[in-house]
Amino acid sequence: TGVRIGRNKGVELRESGLTINRARKTFRSAEGNLVHAIDDVSLNIEAGEFFVLLGPSGCGKTTLLRSIGGLETLDAGEIYLGDQRIDEMPPYERPVNTVFQSYALFPNMTVEQNIAFGLEMEKKPKDYIKRKTQEMLDLVHLSDIGKRLPSQLSGGQQQRVALARSLAKSPKVLLLDESLSALDFKLRRQMQVELKRLQRETGIMFIFVTHDQEEALSMADHIAVFSKGKPEQVGTPEEIYDKPANRFVADFIGDINFLDAAVHDAGSVEVEGKILPVAQDLSKYGKGAAVSAAVRPERITLGAADEGGLQASVETVTYMGSDIRCHVRLADGTPVQIRVNPPFDAALLTVGATVSVTVSPDHMRVVER
Ligand code: ATP
Repeated sequence: TGVRIGRNKGVELRESGLTINRARKTFRSAEGNLVHAIDDVSLNIEAGEFFVLLGPSGCGKTTLLRSIGGLETLDAGEIYLGDQRIDEMPPYERPVNTVFQSYALFPNMTVEQNIAFGLEMEKKPKDYIKRKTQEMLDLVHLSDIGKRLPSQLSGGQQQRVALARSLAKSPKVLLLDESLSALDFKLRRQMQVELKRLQRETGIMFIFVTHDQEEALSMADHIAVFSKGKPEQVGTPEEIYDKPANRFVADFIGDINFLDAAVHDAGSVEVEGKILPVAQDLSKYGKGAAVSAAVRPERITLGAADEGGLQASVETVTYMGSDIRCHVRLADGTPVQIRVNPPFDAALLTVGATVSVTVSPDHMRVVER
């Protein structure tokens, strides 16, 4: 995977990977305005990876997924799978399958019949269909309920049947649109683990759309964070969480504090009169540039007032069981949320106490203000 196999009109294609090149799709809204649902998007997705399209409602992730599946036609740009251009192929000829949020199971067919249906339409040999259906039932752990109707299944089981049905046709790419959003919280967590397992075991490229950042972080090999029709950042969950490329990504993923800062030199910023080193090259900013230092609540260290960090006063302390959430206020009035693991020094975590707030250079991320 990842091997470059050549170029086509200047586009680098990868062996079995999906290449999206300068894709565009514009709609006209009911009010008559143009909406750039996909705005000049280029992405590479490797064969065999779990790729997540993440972003707020309306950012274009569903339109991109539908364009890969062939339910939407691009206005411009191309989509390749390996060296094969797929965006001009009819949907049913693409080696791509979609799992819909609604599952779309046939209510009058048993679980087995639902899974076999696509293979029967393709006129596959009977014994192949039988073998493949059984293999899929085993894969999703439903072998003992193959004779049931969808109405006799739980939400999680229906989800598994929908997955098995899509995987039975051995697609090269499986598209999943908000596939877990109909499930309750606990089942959703279980299915996340299950989906990840299915992806690993089958080795099929999964492209999963969600607006749930926790879901994205827990499942993805790579995430593309979308805003307004464009990817703001593509990276591993760790990169997206710890090294957000800009303010939008920092803010969209997880909890974060933004501290007003001024660039001091290429490797440090000034916050509240203190020079703080950062493990990031700031040479693109001029000296004195107004920026924000973004810091995760759990990456902050609290200490006694004389420990030399930023001075802050403790405003609230909330015991949450697994951690303690604390709000402090810096001298300039900036509120900062902090998360610490118990047990913790009770004298320090007292409302009204003055504390010192420190952040290591690795854990501070400079973004635009
Ligand atoms: P959600 O999570 O709410 O589904 P999304 O990120 O998947 O959002 P899209 O559904 O791709 O976003 O929509 C992107 C933009 O394109 C939105 O502004 C949407 O209103 C618009 N849009 C999508 N489909 C159409 C359509 N058929 N006609 C007009 N506008 C559309």
